[in-house]
Amino acid sequence: MVALSEIENLSLEFETKTPQEIIRWAVTEYSPEIAMSSSFQTQSMPLLHMATRIDPNLIVFFLDTGYHFWETLMFREQLAADWNLNVRDLRRDPRWDAFALQNIRTLPIDDPNLCCYLNKVQPMQRALQGMKAWISGIRRDQTSVRAQAKILEMQNGLLKINPLLNWTRADVERYAKEHDLPKHPLYDKGYRSVGCAPCTIAIGADDDERAGRWAGRGKIECGLHTDMFQKKNISEVESSN
Ligand code: SF4
Repeated sequence: MVALSEIENLSLEFETKTPQEIIRWAVTEYSPEIAMSSSFQTQSMPLLHMATRIDPNLIVFFLDTGYHFWETLMFREQLAADWNLNVRDLRRDPRWDAFALQNIRTLPIDDPNLCCYLNKVQPMQRALQGMKAWISGIRRDQTSVRAQAKILEMQNGLLKINPLLNWTRADVERYAKEHDLPKHPLYDKGYRSVGCAPCTIAIGADDDERAGRWAGRGKIECGLHTDMFQKKNISEVESSN
């Protein structure tokens, strides 16, 4: 395991490495206390493909928020079987079930920050307890928040590894084409980035890749890759209202 003092230099060194080189380093250093997360959308396919070919037993966390399109659930199921993936579905803490079910239609609209915290951030925090490293597929060209990220980021003892940070949308498309990777069933219907159904709309071919996520609602991130991930409990979450 790498010393804390070396993380920054190593992260800079990785700026010129390929994603595969970074993933190989990560699984060598941290396996079996390492996992990746995937939303099983078209743009997630390259990382999922390369990481699980480097380590076929790598744990893949999927956030089953209860709000997914049926197509996403079917695609996740099919791909897990076809690629023999070690997928673990993550769900919200049952303590919030009564509240969440009572507000199932209104919560994503009225308070998406709280909804994302309950259904994405907190389940991921719990799943990563006991892990030493987390591989994520974020890219700098996706959002203004992600543009500031580093390839290696230490977060309260957990090393976050972002191997695709320097890749562009074109790089993702090129890799997908070269390896003939499957597409999410909604991709060709204009869903370039697919999240939960209440918070995703179809967009035009030339629109920004994430323009269909929380469109017109002043939100660009779910919280997994922002300060929200450091919040310890529900009372610390800033309301969307
Ligand atoms: S993306 Fe929307 S539905 Fe999904 S957890 Fe966040 S607010 Fe809720």
